[in-house]
Amino acid sequence: MKKAFTLIELLVVIAIIAVLMAILMPALRRAKEQAMNVQCRSNLRNYGLALRMYLDDNELIFPVSLEWLYADGGNGCRWHDASKNLDTHPELGGSLWPYLANKDIHVCPTFLRVAKAMSCRLTVHDGSIPVEPQYGYTMNSYLHGDAWYRVPQEFHGQIKKTANESSVKNPSRVFSFGEENTWSIAGISGVGINDNNLRSTPNGNTDCFATFHGASGNLNNGVSNAVFVDGHVEKVTPYPRPNTYILSWPAGKAPLKW
Ligand SMILES: [Zn+2]
Ligand SMILES: [Zn+2]
Repeated sequence: MKKAFTLIELLVVIAIIAVLMAILMPALRRAKEQAMNVQCRSNLRNYGLALRMYLDDNELIFPVSLEWLYADGGNGCRWHDASKNLDTHPELGGSLWPYLANKDIHVCPTFLRVAKAMSCRLTVHDGSIPVEPQYGYTMNSYLHGDAWYRVPQEFHGQIKKTANESSVKNPSRVFSFGEENTWSIAGISGVGINDNNLRSTPNGNTDCFATFHGASGNLNNGVSNAVFVDGHVEKVTPYPRPNTYILSWPAGKAPLKW
C-alpha cells in the first residue's frame, strides 16, 4: 500500500521551508540591492563620459547646472512628470541632453523605488502629476559657477567661480553628478530634489546627497553614489554635515563657518 504524508510530516516540511526562507530572504534582498547599486554606478559612469564629451566639444566650459537637462531650467516636478519625458519631447532638452539621449541611464533603480514610496516632497508639488521618476541625477551647481552667484556674498572669497574645467584643481575630489535626497533631513536639507542641480550652501538649509543606498529602515543612514569631474564613481554621504558642500566646492576644504 502506498503511504501518504501525514499531517505532521507536512507541517514539519512547511516549517523547514519557512525557516529556510527566513534565512535566505535577507541575503536575497542584499543581493538585489547590490545589483541595483551596480546599475546606479554604471549610470553615473555614463554621465561622466557624457560630460567628458561635452567639455571636449565646448572648450572645457561646463554646462550651466540649471540648464543641462532642460533648456529652460528644470524646475518643480519635472523629474517625475512623464509628460515632460525628454525621449518623447527632445525639444525641451538642455545642453547635455544630446550626449545622454537614447541611453537608459537616467533613473537609479533604488531611487525609483524610494521616490515612489516617498512621493514628491516639494511645497509647490502639483498633486495632479503622478510620481513617475524620469530623471534622478542632479548636477553639481558649483561647476560653471552657478552656485557662486547664488550663495551669500560673504562666502565668495572661499568659493571659486568655476566656468572652465581647468579651474577645478582637484578633479578627483569634486563631484559632477550625484543623487539628491527627495525628502528633508533635519538640520541639513530643507527641500528635496526640486530641480536638476545640487547646490549645497555653506550656511542654513542646503541640498544634499541622497542616503537611500543600503539604508535599513531609516533612509537617512545609507549612502549615495556620485561621479567626479575626473570620471570615477565613488560612494559618498552628506555626513559629517559639510560633506556634500566639501565635495561640491573646488577648494576641497571645510567651509569657514558651519
Ligand atoms: Zn512633484
Ligand atoms: Zn543610486
